[in-house]
Amino acid sequence: MLEGMNAIKTRNDLLAELRTETFDVLIIGAGITGAGIAWDAALRGLKTAIIDKNDFGYGTSSGSSKLVHAGIRYLAYGEFRLVRNASRERQLLFQLCPHQTRPLPFLIPIFKKGKNTFLKMFFATTMYDILAGFKNYQNKKFISREKTIELIPNIRKEGLKRGVIYWDGFMDDARVTLETILSAKDAGAITANYVEAISFLQTDEDKKKDRVSGAIVRDNLSDETFDIKAKVVINATGPWTDQTIRLLNQPSRILRTTKGIHVITKRVIEEDIVLVITADDERGMFIIPFREEYSLIGTTDTDYKENFDHVDVTEEDINYVVSAVNNDMPGMLSKKDIISAYSGIRPLIISPNAKSETDTSRNFDIFETRTNLFTITGGKYTLFRYMAEKMIDRVLAFLGLDKKDYPCQTKKHKLHGAKGINDMDEYLKKHVPKIIEEFKLDKDSAEHIVHTYGSNHDKILEIIKQKPTFAKRIAKGRPYITGEIQYIVENELAYTLNDFMFRRTQLQLLDHQGLDCAEQIAQIMAKYLEWDKTEIKQQFSDYKKNLVWKP
Ligand SMILES: Cc1cc2nc3c(=O)[nH]c(=O)nc-3n(C[C@H](O)[C@H](O)[C@H](O)COP(=O)(O)OP(=O)(O)OC[C@H]3O[C@@H](n4cnc5c(N)ncnc54)[C@H](O)[C@@H]3O)c2cc1C
Repeated sequence: MLEGMNAIKTRNDLLAELRTETFDVLIIGAGITGAGIAWDAALRGLKTAIIDKNDFGYGTSSGSSKLVHAGIRYLAYGEFRLVRNASRERQLLFQLCPHQTRPLPFLIPIFKKGKNTFLKMFFATTMYDILAGFKNYQNKKFISREKTIELIPNIRKEGLKRGVIYWDGFMDDARVTLETILSAKDAGAITANYVEAISFLQTDEDKKKDRVSGAIVRDNLSDETFDIKAKVVINATGPWTDQTIRLLNQPSRILRTTKGIHVITKRVIEEDIVLVITADDERGMFIIPFREEYSLIGTTDTDYKENFDHVDVTEEDINYVVSAVNNDMPGMLSKKDIISAYSGIRPLIISPNAKSETDTSRNFDIFETRTNLFTITGGKYTLFRYMAEKMIDRVLAFLGLDKKDYPCQTKKHKLHGAKGINDMDEYLKKHVPKIIEEFKLDKDSAEHIVHTYGSNHDKILEIIKQKPTFAKRIAKGRPYITGEIQYIVENELAYTLNDFMFRRTQLQLLDHQGLDCAEQIAQIMAKYLEWDKTEIKQQFSDYKKNLVWKP
């Protein structure tokens, strides 16, 4: 078979099925919400299809703070149920996707005149442990001023009284979405990126009966349009929720959309701990350890109604973040320290009583837009499995199927790439030394491929075995190797350079925003995707255009 046939054939096969089959359920939008629903539906035996107008995880699901968290701050709004559910889901996700998630301690410093008083923090962190059924990685612990300074030597000393440590977790949001999509695919779902719903399929009879019979879609890589037929359609389009409903030619305003940005810098805190800092307007923000040598800092929360397809990071956003860091770590950060930045849009359900963006509830809801067209929106990334379970329970009820005969399977099924991994540290210990010895990879690259691809890392080793030059690093100072390009194109439904740089890897977030290696990567992808020289140039130019922050 020619190089490239795999990737192109896979797409053609998926599109052929979309054109010809009638699905039990068609999901529009392949962020984490849609991906979770597709996974749940396929595991319960429903004939499932999921489409995204862009790539899997293209929207908010690659623009989050990357925290697997129950949301300690929601306690202040009395959202106890949300926190309890999210605690349970967080612990479950650590088990279901151990290669892409990890528990992490969070430190809240307590200052003499700060809003985080000892009493408030005592109540919040104690409730956090209680609502998690004391299953947090460790229970909360107050530490002395001296210990706080030992952990964060550059912290503001003035007024510092003590600190409190509680536990949540971290993930690669784009890759967890991808692993969920690939899990849905493994379970039999048809998973297609670059397929956009441009209208709903509705005959006159459908209109009379207040239903739809599928969607009219466009293949955004070829511009062809076709119909997808389905018994139930789910709108899981995140920030685009209202726009999708408007395809029915009706007004819609379910969401309040707010923008959040993050920046990446070289490590500002050596310790493997998240520091909770306070911005000028008293909002909490995080300095998160990111990979070995970076910090991820965010986020902001401002109303946003403009173009959801390109959300620029502005000077004002950057100033807000820099100022917040310098409040609690004086003189620590300046604009020139910023390596990269990214943005995301929160799909928040309008709460009539919310006074500010930050007040708006993080709960989710399911709306019956038509009798067989459901809209699911809001929520948190961490809640995705639970949201999907509720959604598919509703679908089964609509289809007249008893959920006892179609029980939810997602609590027991590890995600793609997690097969056989129970303890990630043990898994690394078992595989990394062997890879270093047999394949002569350096430790960083060996750990990187095991962490990123989990139990599928052996497929990359197989590629290197056949092509030893593919063991070479793609870019100086970053652990990615050439073999990953072939693996990703052939196995992870990546069809553009943007897919590779923004979501399959984190190269866009690291040094030079990946601009030093992107063109060379496009040249290698070209072999598998049949790109000519003009297309390679176009891909590189699209990549540059998609960067939302220009230093
Ligand atoms: C700044 C920020 C930080 C956050 N941090 C966290 C966190 O740390 N932890 C946490 O748990 N949650 C966090 N969240 C919330 C979480 O990220 C979101 O709740 C979640 O990602 C929403 O996923 P979604 O699938 O609903 O939306 P999206 O990920 O936006 O997915 C919607 C998809 O629909 C597609 N689409 C739109 N229109 C169409 C169409 N017509 N046809 C086909 N496809 C279409 C889009 O391309 C997109 O891929 C954060 C959110 C933000 C903004």
